[in-house]
Amino acid sequence: MNYSILLKFGEITLKGANRSYFENTLLRQVRYRIKPYGKFNVFKSQSTICVEALSDDCDMEGAYDICKKTFGVIALCRAYECEKDMAAIEKTVAALAPELIGGAKTFKADARRSDKSFPLSSPEISAIVGGAVLDACPGVKVDVHDPEVTVRVEIRDEKAFISGAREKGAGGMPVTTNGKALLLLSGGIDSPVAGHMICRRGVKLEAMHFESFPYTSERALEKVRELTKILARYNGAVCFHTVSVTKIQEELRKRCEEEYFTLLLRRFMMRISERIALERECRALVTGESVGQVASQTIEALSVTNSTVNIPVFRPCIGLDKEEIIVRAREIGTYETSILPYEDCCTVFTPRHPKTKPSLDRVLAEEERVDVEALVFAALETHKQEWIKDSLYE
Ligand code: ATP
Ligand code: MG
Repeated sequence: MNYSILLKFGEITLKGANRSYFENTLLRQVRYRIKPYGKFNVFKSQSTICVEALSDDCDMEGAYDICKKTFGVIALCRAYECEKDMAAIEKTVAALAPELIGGAKTFKADARRSDKSFPLSSPEISAIVGGAVLDACPGVKVDVHDPEVTVRVEIRDEKAFISGAREKGAGGMPVTTNGKALLLLSGGIDSPVAGHMICRRGVKLEAMHFESFPYTSERALEKVRELTKILARYNGAVCFHTVSVTKIQEELRKRCEEEYFTLLLRRFMMRISERIALERECRALVTGESVGQVASQTIEALSVTNSTVNIPVFRPCIGLDKEEIIVRAREIGTYETSILPYEDCCTVFTPRHPKTKPSLDRVLAEEERVDVEALVFAALETHKQEWIKDSLYE
């Protein structure tokens, strides 16, 4: 059966003078994202975006799925087309009733006519539609005041449209409506999840990865590119940055106490990331850190890492358990790639006994032994960037 897709905006985006900015951004993004699935007419009608197929060969399920993954869409449903004839409407409602009700216990029917020449009035249509649902779904009750679901019938000029229960969308806000941030993306489980959480808030991500050739391999880098590609489905094309920290790691190994290696490296990563962020007009850094997860993520260690930068650092996984992060990684589709067993630069020179409660003074003393500015400068000379797209849009 032919259907259109109806998308509901998130509540927050409806407030204030910015409303049309949020709505138009979302409209543009939906138009772009459904392109691989055929030709559609996408338009705004009150507080809903309607996605209508313009030809019979559109892949509606593909379009529905990508709309469901679009940030800023709080809920969505299918609106089924049917002949503008009461018998046909009743038959269609009866056939679709379980989907229209979607497991709810109470509903009401709500009919509208933009074609006023239709022979029945709106209340008459509602009564017939309500009856058809009651017959098809035993146990479901009518509640006109506070229904769980509203079954809608709209009589338009050409056809009738029938819709019911809405499914949850991706939520959040349309990407780009909250500026840009730079995600520090390792090959691990946590950082892609952190990126997804911030992207969902309408923040466009760029990704920053530190490699350590020849200690890390081309395959390890390929894995991070693959993770970036998955994030691109939510974010749109991602500007992917790489910088080599090989020289920094070798210097640290030569001159500093082993128990401080990881911390010192993390401080370098933050400094380099901040420079690249500012150059790219990213206003914050995002990391996958979670308090207490490893030695470099105790409060003391986080504070030592943090003190190298001035821009905000978002750590959305900070209060999540590993298990919870894994659930999210599976949901967003990054888990299987994240667990591929390739090395990361942090695992190359891992100290046997990392410092868990470092003091900043002691860390600064360690840093005195290397030329920080020269190492940052040399690392930035290795900076490369490329755009990574979701394979759908390549
Ligand atoms: P993840 O699962 O995200 O790798 P992790 O628990 O392994 O996290 P760490 O290795 O201590 O934690 O890294 C903490 C954070 O630092 C990561 O979440 C990521 O944001 C950043 N990070 C670590 N290694 C890299 C890297 N090679 N390139 C870019 N960012 C990195
Ligand atoms: Mg890691």
